Amino acid sequence: MNKTGNLRKMRTELNTPVSYSLLLNDTAIALNPAIGHPLKLTYTGTINCIHCGRKTKKSFNQGYCYPDFIKLAQCDSCIIKPEQCHYAAGTCREPEWGEANCLQPHYVYLANSSGLKVGITRHNQIPTRWIDQGAVAAVPVMKVSSRQLSGLMEVAFKDHVADKTSWQKMLKGVAEPVDMLARRDELLAAVQDSIVELQARFGADAIQLLPEAEVVQIEFPVDVYPTKVKSFNFDKDPVVEGVLQGIKGQYLIFDSGVINIRKFGGYEVTVASAALA
Ligand SMILES: [Zn+2]
Repeated sequence: MNKTGNLRKMRTELNTPVSYSLLLNDTAIALNPAIGHPLKLTYTGTINCIHCGRKTKKSFNQGYCYPDFIKLAQCDSCIIKPEQCHYAAGTCREPEWGEANCLQPHYVYLANSSGLKVGITRHNQIPTRWIDQGAVAAVPVMKVSSRQLSGLMEVAFKDHVADKTSWQKMLKGVAEPVDMLARRDELLAAVQDSIVELQARFGADAIQLLPEAEVVQIEFPVDVYPTKVKSFNFDKDPVVEGVLQGIKGQYLIFDSGVINIRKFGGYEVTVASAALA
C-alpha cells in the first residue's frame, strides 16, 4: 500500500484490543494489521489546515492555520481551561459553536493512564477521549450541565488528584492497576464542599453523581513497549520508519521511536506498508 493524504487524529473503536484507523483526509486505513511489520510515513512538506484546508507554513493547535487559530472558538484558551468559559459574558468567539459544544452535558471522569487522573469530556466523546489518552481503565464520576461546570468541578478535584498524563510513562507500559471505584468515593468525599457550592450556584440538577457507573477497561494493540521513548518530529525529519510495535493513545510505537499522530494533524504524508492492502 502506498497512499498520500493529510493526517487526521486516528479513529478508534473500543474493541479488545482497540481498533485503530489512520485517516488520510477521509480515507481510513485499518492499522492494527500493520503491527509487527515495517511501516513508513513520509511528510511531503505540505500542511493543510484541518479546518479550512488552506495551505499553511506552520500548524497551530495541532493542525489549524493562524487565521483560524485566532478566530475559532474551538481554538480559544477556554477550551483548555473550561472554567474560564466566557460565553455568559457575551464574548464567546462563536456563540453558536459554544451552544452546540460547550453548553451541553459534560462528564467528569477518572482515568488510569500513567496513574490516576481526573478529566472532563463531552458526553459524545466517551470512550474516545479515554482511548486518546492511553487510559487502561476509566469511569465517569458525574454528569454536569456544561463544559464550564465540568471545568470548575475539575479544578476542585485537582487539589487531590493529577489532571495530566505523563505520555512517556504511558508509552512505556501498562499502568499499575488502581481500585477506581474506591478512589472515586474518596475523591468525591474530598470535593463534597465544592459540589454543594456549585449546586447552589448552578442548580441542584446541574451536577448528577453516577454511582452506578461501571469501570471501562481498555486494552491497546501493543506487542512490545519501548524502554526508552524517542519521539519523531516531521518538522525535523520528514521520514518516520521502522517496525510498528503497537498503537496507544494517539501514538504509533515503532522499534525506532514513537510519533504522536494528533500533533501532526493537517500534515500531508505518504504511507507505505507491504502489510496493508
Ligand atoms: Zn484554516
